[in-house]
This record gives sequence, structure tokens and C-alpha cells, in this order.
Amino acid sequence: MSITIQGIGVSKGIAIGKAHIIRHEPIEINEYCLPEYFIEEEIARFENALAIARQQLQRIRARISTDSVVDIATFIDTHLLMLDDSLLTRVPIDLIYEHQCNAEWALKLQCDNIVQIFDQMEDPYLSARKSDIEQVIARVQRILRGCPDTTKEPVDTDLVNAIVLADDLSPADTVLMQHHGILAFATEYGGTTSHTAILARSLGIPAIVGLRHARSYIQPNDTVIVDGGVILVDPDERSLHYYQVRKSEVKRYRAALSKIKKSPSITRDGTHITLHVNIEFPEDMLAVKRVGSSGVGLYRTEFLFMNRQKPPDEEEHFEAYNQVIEALKGGPVTIRTLDLGADKQFVDSRFHDGLLATNPALGLRAIRLCLKKPQLFKPQLRAILRASALGQVRMMIPMVCGIQEVVQVRLLIDEIRTELRNKSIKFDPQMPYGIMLEVPAIALCTDLVAPLVDFLSLGTNDLIQYTLAIDRGDEVVNYLYDPLHPAVLRLIKMSIDAAKKAGKPISICGEMAGDCRYVRLLLGLGLRSFSVNPEAFLEVKQIIINSDIKSLAPLADKMLLATSHSEMANILLRINDC
Ligand code: PEP
Ligand code: MG
Repeated sequence: MSITIQGIGVSKGIAIGKAHIIRHEPIEINEYCLPEYFIEEEIARFENALAIARQQLQRIRARISTDSVVDIATFIDTHLLMLDDSLLTRVPIDLIYEHQCNAEWALKLQCDNIVQIFDQMEDPYLSARKSDIEQVIARVQRILRGCPDTTKEPVDTDLVNAIVLADDLSPADTVLMQHHGILAFATEYGGTTSHTAILARSLGIPAIVGLRHARSYIQPNDTVIVDGGVILVDPDERSLHYYQVRKSEVKRYRAALSKIKKSPSITRDGTHITLHVNIEFPEDMLAVKRVGSSGVGLYRTEFLFMNRQKPPDEEEHFEAYNQVIEALKGGPVTIRTLDLGADKQFVDSRFHDGLLATNPALGLRAIRLCLKKPQLFKPQLRAILRASALGQVRMMIPMVCGIQEVVQVRLLIDEIRTELRNKSIKFDPQMPYGIMLEVPAIALCTDLVAPLVDFLSLGTNDLIQYTLAIDRGDEVVNYLYDPLHPAVLRLIKMSIDAAKKAGKPISICGEMAGDCRYVRLLLGLGLRSFSVNPEAFLEVKQIIINSDIKSLAPLADKMLLATSHSEMANILLRINDC
């Protein structure tokens, strides 16, 4: 009987294959009380196991091919570093002395301690690192228990064309599997920043995580289909046929797209269009590398703040920005200051004084919250300024509504600059400072605000929400969420024209920019700079390359005057056909 199981899709695509189930059987660890004269020998046994674990990981590391799209070596290096950390080298020895117990048990005690600390952090990124620690400790415990070393074995040939289903996969597992023709990964645990997710995205193969209990319903060699966040087990013939057809269509399309990875985004009539990507985590840089973007047009930083009790400190901010800057190798990054509130809620009431707005989208969100809570905002501003000494960094402010906010942030930046200068801390004094145009009030005043900033970016997700009074997250009114509403198009057009008149660069980073139906319309309205999500990047580039700007502008003008849906649909058709 076919069944469908829902998980979290972390890497897009369709895969059809046989299930290969991996069971990491838990190793049973018992406590033994050791006589005192045996302790030194036990410590020597423990240290030997650590040394063997290092050798195993080094052997796995050596298997990583140099053309690997993702820097998997760093995953393995993280495990190697953990093996050298005193938490694993010294503390277990102290525990062996203290409890006069066997090394496996001492490691178990230490693992429980560390996991407890990680659990309190409640940060999705750190909880992914928690499983790293568990994996490293399990490796040492397996060695102590005399389990066979799988790193020397040839990789299971069953993996060819398999859909791997596991509880979780360690970086070492994925290294051993990566060149064996695996079609997709599906795990019961893990989140969007788990190694499986990162690796799958960077290899461009589909992956689903969080498929709790899936392995209870799937047998080895069952036919399974992975699509988005769903896994279909034992599909009937009609479903199988449907997915086979779709899969080959997607494959042909992707193959054609990958050919333009290195092509410049220049229209047929020679206009250069800046095309960058939006990211949310430093780990997204792997996907950015895969699609070949040279810059990040929107780095949403609120994900550093979510699902945790305490806001990140300056160093955490700095470290995250540094990772992105390093990965960009000189390319530009626009770091957006935090946009908490509305659909991006936070846990700790200290962030917002317990004042939960009746309508969060209209409440203390983004720059409003930042200006009210400088203790939240200043560490981020300092970190961005410090990061500006390391690469091409631009700072962007979300949800700006009034000119006063732009001035207030400028003053804060000046204050922090003075502070950094007095401490001889480096920053780029020319770091561009820009704002998002996502509240109609400020979009209508683009001409007034443009002279005060270095650049502007249209955030159409919110601009549409606030212009049309449609909650972007409310499914009931979703049918009214219309990027083609004349009010939205007019606001976009007015902002572009006003920015151009003021000589200030304007770009777009809302989802509308990555929607293939609207790319040519936006070009016709005058936009020359786009930032889109990594999945849409190559598709958008393809459209740009095949567009003729001159023919688009008159049609876009017509669109601004359209009065009915059918008229708009007709014009859009002509825009996308020419
Ligand atoms: C937008 O509003 O268009 C935007 C890019 O910001 P976010 O989706 O993060 O609100
Ligand atoms: Mg927004």
C-alpha cells in the first residue's frame, strides 16, 4: 500500500529510487567498576582509541576528492578538532579517575553533560553541532568496544541509485557516500542547517529531514519518491509515471541551466544586470557557490536571533559575517540589520519587553525594535562595521517608514565609528549604507530619502503586504496578494524613477524578483539589479540573457495603465513572449 510521509524539504528536486536504509544501531554502554591498579591501563586504552579515531577521520578526509563542490573537509576537520579538545581528551580521564569506571562509561557521562549544555542553548545551528559531538563520541566508543572499522571497507554498491534513509548522517557518512550515485537523502532527524541538508544542497540532490519514524514504514528496496518535503513509499503506477515524466523534464531543464553558470548576466541588447542571491545562514554560501553567484544582495540576519533565549553577542555576529565574506572571496555582501517581529518571532520576552503587539506586522518590528533597544542593535552595528574592514560590505536597514529613522541610524553608526576609531579597531569608513523600500510610506518618499542613503532595495514581500493590506502569512486572504496590482507596480516604478533621478542605485530583493513571470516586467520598469534566492538564480539569469530591454519598457508602461486582470494577463504574455 502506498503511503506519503511529510518532512522538511531542505534541498529541492525529485528522486525516484530504491530505499537504502541505514541503521546506526546504538552501542550498548555498560558501567564497570575498575580496581585502582587498572586505572592507568584504562586511560592508555582510552588514549589509544582517540588516536585510532583520529586516524580513521584522516583516512576519510583523504578520500575527499579535490573537485568536491562543497568544502566537506571542514566538516571532517571539525570532528578532528573535537577529538583534540580537552572536553574529550582530558575530562573523560578525570571521570575515569573520579568514578573508577571504564572509558566507554566516562565518555557516556561526558556526552550526557555536553548534550545537556547544548540543549539549553536552543539554537538550531548549535543543536546541529550537538550531533557532531555525539557522532565523535560514538566513534570513540565503537573503537573501545572493538567494532569493525568501516572506513577501510569499500562503500556499499547498493548505494548506487539509492535513496538513503537514516536516523541522521554524520559528515563522515556523507563523505563515504558522496561519490556513489546516491539519488537523495532522507533522515528522521536534523534541520535546515544539518550537514545532510548542507551537503545535499551543495551537491544539488534532493533531501528531506525531520521524517520522524519514517524507517518504521519503509522496507529496504521499497520504491520511494522524494519530492520537496514529501516522501511517497511504494507509489502506484500512475504516480510513478507522473513523477518519471516530471523528473526528466526537470533534469533537462537543469542541465540547460547549468551551462549558463559562468555566463555574465547581460541582456541580448547588451545591458549588464547585477544578479545576486539572498541568504539566511552562512551555510547557504555552499548553494551560492554552486549556482555561481559573485555576491549576496540580501543577508537576512534575524536567523541569528531566533529560537534562542539570549540575543547573539557582537562576536557571534562578527563570526557569521566573516564566514560569508570569506566565502565570497572579495564579492559584495549586503548585510541587513535585524528584522524581528511579524512573521519572524523571537522567544525571549526581554527582546520586546513582553509587549506583544495585537498586530505584529504593524508593531514593534525591525528598525523600530532596533531603535527602541540599542542594546540589541549596537552589537550588530559594531560587528557589521568591523566586518566592513574584511570585504565589500554594505549595511541595509529594513522596514524603514520615516526619514527620521534613517537619520537616527546614521547617528548611531557615527557614534560607533568614533568608538571603533578611538579603540583603533579597523572598519571601512566608506561602507555603503542603504535602506529597504518595503513600506509604502517611504517608497512614496524615495525622492526625499534617496539623498540620505547610498542605495535602496525594494522589498516587495512587505511592500505588497502593506500596500494591499494583506497579511502575507494569512492563507485566507492569500488570493488577494497580487504583485501585479497597479498600486504595487506604480510604487515600484515611482521608486525606480526617483532613485535614478537622485543618482542612487536601486535593486530588488523580494520574492517577486525570483519569480520568472515577473523578471522581464521588472526589467521593463527599469530595474537593473536583482537579488533572488539561490534556487531561482540560474532561471532568472536565463531570462535576463534572453531579454531585449528596449522592447520591454513600452510594454511595462502599458502594464501601469491596465485596468483589468485580463488586460494585465495579455500584456504579461506579450512581455514574456517577446
Ligand atoms: C521583503 O519584504 O521583500 C524582504 C526581502 O524582506 P523579508 O522577506 O525578509 O521580510
Ligand atoms: Mg521585508
